[in-house]
Amino acid sequence: MTLVPHKKAKALKPSSRRPAKELCSECGLCDTYYIHYVKEACAFINQQIPNLEEQTHGRSRDLEQSDDLYFGVHQDMMAARKTEPIPGAQWTGIVSTIAIEMLTRGMVEGVVCVQNTEDDRFQPKPIIATTPEEILAAKVNKPTLSPNLSVLELVEQSGMKRLLVIGVGCQIQALRAVEKKLGLEKLYVLGTPCTDNVTRAGLQKFLDTTSRSPETVVYYEFMQDFNVHFKHEDGSTELVPFFGLKTNQLKDVFAPSCLSCFDYVNSLADLVVGYMGAPFGWQWIVVRNDRGQEMLDLVQDKIETQPVTSKGDRHQAVQQSIPAYDKAVTLPMWAAKLMGVVIEKIGPKGLEYARFSIDSHFTRNYLYVKRNHPEKLEQHVPDYAKRIVSQYKLPE
Ligand code: FAD
Ligand code: SF4
Repeated sequence: MTLVPHKKAKALKPSSRRPAKELCSECGLCDTYYIHYVKEACAFINQQIPNLEEQTHGRSRDLEQSDDLYFGVHQDMMAARKTEPIPGAQWTGIVSTIAIEMLTRGMVEGVVCVQNTEDDRFQPKPIIATTPEEILAAKVNKPTLSPNLSVLELVEQSGMKRLLVIGVGCQIQALRAVEKKLGLEKLYVLGTPCTDNVTRAGLQKFLDTTSRSPETVVYYEFMQDFNVHFKHEDGSTELVPFFGLKTNQLKDVFAPSCLSCFDYVNSLADLVVGYMGAPFGWQWIVVRNDRGQEMLDLVQDKIETQPVTSKGDRHQAVQQSIPAYDKAVTLPMWAAKLMGVVIEKIGPKGLEYARFSIDSHFTRNYLYVKRNHPEKLEQHVPDYAKRIVSQYKLPE
């Protein structure tokens, strides 16, 4: 049985009741009666990550501890991959596998995840899955803003008491803020990192300007080798170097919510599964608390792991990228490819690559908020992000 939101909720126009206005990430909370709490709960109206870290993990991150500062509260971190990957998953399918194990072992009665609509593989359709098949049908990223929380009302109506929610940072911040109102006995949160998300129309523009065959793309990822990897319907892979992206055409493609987000690493999830702190081909696991460890333990016999490592120094590359992005510099393809090869050889690796990506996005986003929403800058940018940004010289 799949639980999907009521049509009325879906039919509401985004702009008609979204107090965060243009910064709204369409997390779905405002499609439910929990909209009542929006001023408190919305990640873009009331940034409250340290308080919610305390509520969720028992402490907020230690700003003097470098890994905490960057990756949030955690008790373990590693690289992992499934020994038998799920075909068609975003990476090796660790997220879907954990969700299926939790459901089949009776730890939860339902899983909030996001499938796609029948006629569009990239159009998100949030559901509460109650069978392994429904979870599997939600595999792979829908690289678009997704109203995952729009199904929250159904949780209460269905009488479920134990729930797993899979989601990205802005969805999880709002979820944590209303968690106590959901009437649950147990909530588990499996998060992914997230950055540079787009609306469905924005995604089309990105595909049209970047891929050789936009209509056949089934999947893409910005990977640790400084290339965007597009996988096509025929199984072929297309690589486009980061430095060759048509920045001048793409600058306004990312959603304003993502240009003002400082929760890349999903600070409030129990367990985070991404890729950016791991070697190429591996997934990056951050266990934030005991619930996260409990979830990871379920798949220990299905994954291989290795310790995280860190190599290189990102600072110069980040500093150089700030004015280049600001001026929307686009390199000719031959130069972009060459630069990609050089950086891949000598550039940051492992956790240092993750720090490179966090620094680049936080400096860009800090400038975006400062220029477009100066009145929000002080409250909206968390202290850990201010400290990260302060390492760099920013243009006005
Ligand atoms: P799968 O088993 O394929 O499962 C994917 C899960 O993602 C599904 O359960 C589905 O419900 C959920 N999902 C799909 N689309 C969305 C969406 N739009 N919103 C919320 N949930 C969704 N990792 C990084 O390290 N760095 C990044 O910059 C980064 N950016 C990301 C951006 C987006 C929009 C998303 C959704 C994920 C991003 N990730 C990032 C995480 C990474 O791409 C993989 O999703 C993660 O490693 C899990 O892979 P998997 O094979 O285990 O997932
Ligand atoms: Fe509502 Fe979520 Fe948009 Fe904030 S981001 S206005 S909580 S739908």
